[in-house]
Amino acid sequence: MDKILIATKNKGKVKDFKTLFNKQGIEVISLLDLDEEISDVEETGITFEENAALKAETIAELMQMPVLADDSGLAIDALDGAPGVYSARYAGMEKNDQKNIEKVLDKLKNIPEQARTAQFVCALALADPNGDTVIKQGYCKGHITLEPIGDQGFGYDPIFKPEDYPCTMAQLTPEQKSAISHRGQALRKLADWLALD
Ligand code: IMP
Repeated sequence: MDKILIATKNKGKVKDFKTLFNKQGIEVISLLDLDEEISDVEETGITFEENAALKAETIAELMQMPVLADDSGLAIDALDGAPGVYSARYAGMEKNDQKNIEKVLDKLKNIPEQARTAQFVCALALADPNGDTVIKQGYCKGHITLEPIGDQGFGYDPIFKPEDYPCTMAQLTPEQKSAISHRGQALRKLADWLALD
């Protein structure tokens, strides 16, 4: 493998993936570099792995090159794993972080602090056009706070306090977050696999 397409338009994610693959001598391009527009792959799976694989395999077949896709979200124990694969659009189709946070806090309003356990999950799928797919998962366990704190990061970071940390994910620097995050862990597992392969 000498070139890979990252199935995202998120510049932050592209940067993280470039660092990993360039170390292995693999050139990275993303959806931002393509002349043609690739329509969104519908995320019809019920797990993060299924959705990441669906996206990677569909685009790998279309483009006839290796493709990496990710799917991630927040699973809250007291809500039976919700918002889960629906994390981005929990409060409506328009993907609003603020409204998603408000909905979570409202659903948990009668749940005491010790029962507000949750985890972030990230699935990375690397598909080649011959149909082989490798999936790596990362997790980050923690608690949902009573109110939002911090202004770093994105999504549910202001209401997620990682296990053994005195602050929320939104109070960490990007480097501190990546050292403990679900995405960082999945990336490191993929890096190990690539080095061994
Ligand atoms: P996607 O996998 O980039 O589509 O992310 C799905 C959704 O999960 C995001 O829109 C966020 O709401 C949530 N999410 C995923 N990863 C994180 C994270 O690192 N911090 C906060 N929220 C996240």
